[in-house]
Amino acid sequence: MRYLILSDIHGNIEALDAVLAAVDPATCDATLVLGDLVGYGADPNAVIERVRSLSPRATIRGNHDKVAAGVEDAEGFNTIARSAVSWTMLELSPENTSYLAALQQGPQVVDDMIEICHGTPYDEDAYVFDELDALRALESATRPVCLFGHTHIPVVFTRSRQGLEVETPDGEPLWPVAIAEDRRYLINPGSVGQPRDGDPRAAFAIADTTARRVELRRIEYPLQTTQQKVIRAGLPDVLARRLAVGR
Ligand code: ZN
Repeated sequence: MRYLILSDIHGNIEALDAVLAAVDPATCDATLVLGDLVGYGADPNAVIERVRSLSPRATIRGNHDKVAAGVEDAEGFNTIARSAVSWTMLELSPENTSYLAALQQGPQVVDDMIEICHGTPYDEDAYVFDELDALRALESATRPVCLFGHTHIPVVFTRSRQGLEVETPDGEPLWPVAIAEDRRYLINPGSVGQPRDGDPRAAFAIADTTARRVELRRIEYPLQTTQQKVIRAGLPDVLARRLAVGR
């Protein structure tokens, strides 16, 4: 199976469309979506509709999806996230609100090799930033490859008998990871719509279970258009500015 992996799209339709133009979904057997379709960006309805048109094999909810759908309140959100989610709630069509509200909670097992979660397998809202977080997440994972999102930072944690290795992509448009039989992996593809690793390009991944390979990918998109839409929508200016620096 060859999966297109999308995480943290955050209402950024230009970034999502650039990814879909770079990787014809027809060349993948299925799409997996790791949550946070909305929040921060100016096109929550268009993003939901585009994701739905892909008929993903699995789509799990992120923290922003839950709050935007009214499943959870905005407690724990900072002022900017809170203001963006209030805007998103007013903008969403009733149908798309229902769609978000019905999204499944992670983790979700996809096949023998892959499972997906938004934050971690033990808590959908927990963040994996350091090695301790990663070890705890790997311990609760039930498949050799666990794909996660939430931090918006592409990273590969590899657990072997020797210990834990951490690797981050080096800025190449395609960064391949070979999946060894005797190791366990915790992989964040990065964020499609709001990268935070200092690289403004949209991030996503392709996971090929037959070839035992995960590719972390980066692609440019017309982010000035996205910034203009964010400002025109009356969303906080900082949400436009951060897209240009990937922070
Ligand atoms: Zn997110």
